[in-house]
Amino acid sequence: MAGLWDAALRGEAAVRRAALAAVDAALLEGVLMRTEAEPNASDVVSFAPFTLLPSAVPSALFRQAYAVQQDFNLLVDAISQDREFLERALASTVKVDDFTARLFRIHLQVLEEGLAQSVFLGINRSDYMFDCGAPGAPALKQIEINTIAASFGGLASRTAAVHGRVLKELGMAEEASRLLPNNPSEGLASGIAKAWELYGSRSAVVMFLVEEVQRNIFDQRCVENELWNRNIRVIRKRFRDVFEKGSLDEARRLYMDGQEVAVVYYREGYVPTNYNQQNWEARLLLERSRAVKCPDIATQLAGTKKVQQELSRPGTLEKLLPGRTEAIARIRATFAGLYSLDVGEEGDKIAATAIANPDQFVLKPQREGGGNNLYGEELRQVLEKIKDSPERTSYILMDKIQPQPTRNYLLRAHSPLKASECVSELGIFGVYVRQGKELVMNEAAGHLLRTKAMEHADGGVAAGVAVLDTPYLV
Ligand code: ADP
Ligand code: MG
Repeated sequence: MAGLWDAALRGEAAVRRAALAAVDAALLEGVLMRTEAEPNASDVVSFAPFTLLPSAVPSALFRQAYAVQQDFNLLVDAISQDREFLERALASTVKVDDFTARLFRIHLQVLEEGLAQSVFLGINRSDYMFDCGAPGAPALKQIEINTIAASFGGLASRTAAVHGRVLKELGMAEEASRLLPNNPSEGLASGIAKAWELYGSRSAVVMFLVEEVQRNIFDQRCVENELWNRNIRVIRKRFRDVFEKGSLDEARRLYMDGQEVAVVYYREGYVPTNYNQQNWEARLLLERSRAVKCPDIATQLAGTKKVQQELSRPGTLEKLLPGRTEAIARIRATFAGLYSLDVGEEGDKIAATAIANPDQFVLKPQREGGGNNLYGEELRQVLEKIKDSPERTSYILMDKIQPQPTRNYLLRAHSPLKASECVSELGIFGVYVRQGKELVMNEAAGHLLRTKAMEHADGGVAAGVAVLDTPYLV
């Protein structure tokens, strides 16, 4: 859909005026981030990077992404309860990937002890691109599902207002009125509030577990405020606070500074650099506790790239979601080609194919947060080097999605205004709550559109590559 806004963008003066209005609107609406120079202070803040204009999203694919979200919630929840499946799916990975192995050991340890937790809360974000690689209409293809610390639901609740202001500035009030309302903050908070309520102690608090460096605090504050508005107390703590001040009582109730914690909402703990020995101990303490972890460690493991690849094997979804034929069909329709690099004939074959055609694949390690995947020549070199070693099993291969680029302006503090060829990634937030075996909430809670310049193969908003966007349905 190149050229959606071409007419409005004729003339540099109009673009400059719109960009000035856009940045002020972002600050007014609270689309904020702390600065790189002072990542832990709010004295001086800036706007979170965003596109000048909303990006075209095919409405059929947008609806398809929403329609499959409750299915994905069910699937993630089912995987998290299936010890055998997780064990089998991750068996080769835990031999070579130390981070996944450590998470897995905690998972087994809490199962051996017996779960104290009886209420489960999942907040995830399923990410997609619109694939134009095959002839015909573009297809919705899942990039990954994030089952821990899925971010930008807060700021995404505020970007449509900014883009509405920009479109009006450019004389397109009619188009502005077509932008969809979107409020993941509220949806995420209602899941957390439900889990808090089911935990059943009115004096207990919700703990946001946050990173040492907190540039993206405003995104979290949006969700936090929704909880305060419901008269639920929120505390913000780091792993090291938990290590120093966290404790369990005889019923494995979790206390921080003497305050009982009902829900632990992780915005931390998804990459190896989040952990030292003390943090691992803190993680274990949290997992052993009765508090509702969002996510529990099994659900975090359900979101690994290796599990994603194993799900694409014929018959796997049928085993995990017995009898749910339609849900399975909706889920499977979003899968791109995914391939195991496990030692053996299947792995040898696909490794050779990828080495011969590196531009058709993405090589992914078991990492989150952007900037870890390998493409093209680099993919070829790395795969060539590890193809005969068990190390290759710490990666998976995926078909490379081919989205249609469009022109936009990416607005960032201290960056010159210039047009870029861009591609977008749509995320849908999912929220569910389970009490024992009974699912008491299962919802799609809003969306996030992120856009990046074509020259970057990889990377999210926090990684400084993608920027926030708003879908404009076409
Ligand atoms: P992370 O956990 O680091 O976010 P992702 O799987 O989401 O890992 O990949 C990071 C980025 O790489 C995505 O946001 C997307 O821009 C790009 N990417 C990932 N998989 C593919 C793919 N199959 N085809 C094209 N681009 C991809
Ligand atoms: Mg991602």
